[in-house]
Amino acid sequence: MKACPQCESPYGYFLSNELYACPECAYEWNPNAVAEEDVLVVKDVNGNLLQDGDSVIVVKNLPVKGASGPIKAGTKVKKIRLTEGDHNISCKIDGFGAMALKSEFVKKA
Ligand SMILES: [Zn+2]
Repeated sequence: MKACPQCESPYGYFLSNELYACPECAYEWNPNAVAEEDVLVVKDVNGNLLQDGDSVIVVKNLPVKGASGPIKAGTKVKKIRLTEGDHNISCKIDGFGAMALKSEFVKKA
């Protein structure tokens, strides 16, 4: 069984011809194809490669539009998700909600 890339259900099962299917959201995928697409290279402030699901620590205060204060240096962020673009980390931060961060302002926890 493989984890579903769409809903993260752990019950994905082998269907046929390299295809896996998820019993919970009905998503079907080819794990090999997913692996090939997943070549985003995102590095932290020290040049370490980051991956989906990593925890990181914010290394400097980051001002947030509309928030009463910045995200403070030292804030731990769990389960990041890598995205393309300038702000290449998608995550949730307690007290701020869903955020996009730049990988150059975090280090691997
Ligand atoms: Zn699913």
